[in-house]
Amino acid sequence: MSLQLTDEQRSLVSTVRDFAARECGTREQRQSLTGNGEQLNSFRIAAQLGELGFLGLSIPEQYGGSGGGLFEACLFVEELAYGRVPLSSFPVTLIVAHSYLKFAPEPMKYEVLGKVCAGVPTAIAMSEPGSGSDVASLTCKADKVESGYRINGQKTWISNAHIAEHILLVCRTSETGDKHQGLTMLSVPTDTPGLTIRPIQTLGAEVNDVYFTDALVPEDRVVGTEGQGWSQLIAGLNIERVIIGALALGQARRAFDDTLAYVTQRTQFGRPIGSFQALSQRLAELATELEATRLLVHDVAQRVDENPEKLLPREASMVKLKATELAKNAALEGVQMMGGMGYTQEAGMEELLRHTIVGTIVGGTSEIQKDIIAKTLGL
Ligand SMILES: Cc1cc2nc3c(=O)[nH]c(=O)nc-3n(C[C@H](O)[C@H](O)[C@H](O)COP(=O)(O)OP(=O)(O)OC[C@H]3O[C@@H](n4cnc5c(N)ncnc54)[C@H](O)[C@@H]3O)c2cc1C
Repeated sequence: MSLQLTDEQRSLVSTVRDFAARECGTREQRQSLTGNGEQLNSFRIAAQLGELGFLGLSIPEQYGGSGGGLFEACLFVEELAYGRVPLSSFPVTLIVAHSYLKFAPEPMKYEVLGKVCAGVPTAIAMSEPGSGSDVASLTCKADKVESGYRINGQKTWISNAHIAEHILLVCRTSETGDKHQGLTMLSVPTDTPGLTIRPIQTLGAEVNDVYFTDALVPEDRVVGTEGQGWSQLIAGLNIERVIIGALALGQARRAFDDTLAYVTQRTQFGRPIGSFQALSQRLAELATELEATRLLVHDVAQRVDENPEKLLPREASMVKLKATELAKNAALEGVQMMGGMGYTQEAGMEELLRHTIVGTIVGGTSEIQKDIIAKTLGL
């Protein structure tokens, strides 16, 4: 294992960086791609990146991907975030794609993964109004009937549901008294009668409530094994946390570079504001944190590739905790060091702050990551 990038990986990074600079490097370009910031996801960009082969980097060739590893996919996600590419649907889509890859029956893999590689988003629905951090307590249920499963219940905070063709639903198919038992993953097409999707207004993320009212899906929509939903979720945690970590690392790098550029050119009291020790010391700390976080994210992504079946609960939670907290802190520091300018839409730092503050909540909060790490220490 080496933390130095290979020539191929370096070339991947520079190609994505060039693409981002060319297609969405200016605020005007991003505004035009996103309906003046109304959407976070550009289908045009998705189609372009799909055509270039980037969306299937970690998906085997037979399903339409290029058969690379998670590390390459993470480098790509990191550069998307660094380049502010309006493709917010992709990190979640990639996480869900890996669940299909691991557990879905073959025909479903061809059905869903080929589209992911071409730029079609997909979604996962675990959270419910009464089940957030304690997600295993979920109550949305699917009853076995002659024609398949009849689903009833509500999911909330579901990213991509409004633009996805399928939702990977985690629901209860039997009551055993143990909340971790009796959960099942079903791949539900979003045009299923009885499924309703309503957007939730937030600070900057596109999420939805999803309601199921006697929604029927055939038996062959089971992903993996009936009743094994919890262990299947656990099996995907390395990938989920490392991908979120890569996204946050890209956001943190963006915040840092933009702040550094600003404090270097902005003068007050006759000198660049970055020369004041109150700011330069904090930037030195941020630079150190960035380098340490980069090494952590890249190291754990490579370790997952080396042994994809091995669970790394401590390391994966450390990646998620460290990178998302750093991204939030870097954006907050960016706003402060840019003064009034940091608060404007034009400079883009306030937008970065809105997008980074959710990183420490989504996919298991920082408090929950710390609990997991503490448990691995025997506490
Ligand atoms: C933008 C966004 C996108 C999302 N996308 C998806 C998605 O695509 N699919 C999906 O299924 N879900 C999604 N979620 C849901 C997300 O995973 C949950 O919001 C998250 O797990 C926290 O659950 P909660 O919001 O119910 O907070 P709660 O669980 O109510 O927690 C509230 C606070 O209490 C703290 N807390 C709770 N329990 C403990 C404890 N035991 N010890 C210490 N502190 C604790 C938490 O850390 C937090 O600070 C998304 C959420 C957001 C905001």
